Amino acid sequence: MTDFHDSVKERFIRYAGIDTQSASGVSETPTTQKQFDLARMLRDELNSIGVSDVWLDEDHCVVYGTIPSNSDACRPVGLVAHMDTAVEAPGGPVNPQVVERYDGGDILLNKDLGIWMRRADFPNLGMYVGEELICTDGTTLLGGDDKASIASIMTMAEHFCSHPELEHGTIAIAFTPDEEVGGLAKDLDLGRFTSDTAYTLDGDHLGYYEYETFNASSAEVRIRGRAVHPGTAKGIMINSIDIAGEFLSALPAAEKPQYTDGREGFFHVMGISGSCEETVVNIIVRDHDTEKFAQRNALLQQITDEFNCRYPEGTVTLSVTYQYRSMKEVIDEVPFMIDNLKKAISDCGVEPVCIPFRGGTDGSALSQRGLPCPNLSAGYENAHSRFEYVPVCNMVKNVEILIRLCELYRDMPV
Ligand SMILES: [Zn+2]
Repeated sequence: MTDFHDSVKERFIRYAGIDTQSASGVSETPTTQKQFDLARMLRDELNSIGVSDVWLDEDHCVVYGTIPSNSDACRPVGLVAHMDTAVEAPGGPVNPQVVERYDGGDILLNKDLGIWMRRADFPNLGMYVGEELICTDGTTLLGGDDKASIASIMTMAEHFCSHPELEHGTIAIAFTPDEEVGGLAKDLDLGRFTSDTAYTLDGDHLGYYEYETFNASSAEVRIRGRAVHPGTAKGIMINSIDIAGEFLSALPAAEKPQYTDGREGFFHVMGISGSCEETVVNIIVRDHDTEKFAQRNALLQQITDEFNCRYPEGTVTLSVTYQYRSMKEVIDEVPFMIDNLKKAISDCGVEPVCIPFRGGTDGSALSQRGLPCPNLSAGYENAHSRFEYVPVCNMVKNVEILIRLCELYRDMPV
């Protein structure tokens, strides 16, 4: 197979150098205009590679392209990655540093500022002794999440476009904004996307994949009290803060993020604010299991009802917003998606590892909208951190996995 090392590395460094950090709490789409800087570059590059139907949606900052089928009737396949970077650390200017051959020790990221990436702090470095790593200068994110995926998808696209003798089915590509701030690929136009199934590429650890995510809701509990002068309060005052405390005590004490893992769900108190007169509690509810998820939301209602009996009617008001659902039920209807993914990963010499994802992905929302969309890891490490890095070998391997995946779809009759 062709060696994709130079092309995927050059692309990644070029994309990482563009600050595309999204912003939370912004209602515009995209949340930051600078995401267009990468979107335009990708549009132009898809065109120059020879991808068809390339289009940048200037209203929503979504980039589309298709590599048309050159084979007999076979199933299409779609690939989706996000252009924005996380908000947890400075987004730029990014100065990618190349460690040509990692010697297994600590890495000096920034000589002037004395910033080291210590092996003791980041044991995952141990997997990459002898490999070429792309790191930050210790002051910003790298943006391997998710530009490592974009570099792999673009390199795969170039491979098929420059080798028309290689047969493949339709390959649909889309790059989306604002994944890191809950965009959920909401502006991805499924009418324009030329495949009826897709994979997102996002996540650490090469060879990992996910098709089971949380079911998610957020609840606002609003508690009304009665404020009077504390000196004459006996038998009259109702302190909503005390009732909020009782409400939280009524939730299962061990079912919190800090005490759970694997497929265990939880209630997580995100915030509480108030005074004697009114207190608002924000709780998020998560569970992989659809039935248990329903029971968790029902428990909130049950506690609310009990409190409205114990205290004056209308003391507690509950409003639940459903955020996303696990994609598992949707993916179970298209088992070939996981069979093909596992085979593509293992055919490339990597062990496929499936984990129930303790969160949601853009694919959770896309699956609910009718585009079944499991996730394949991009192979970056230490995401959302100044210590983010991308082993070049992982991107090369993902190019090979994507090519193999396209071959497996080509070999499937419609
Ligand atoms: Zn990501």
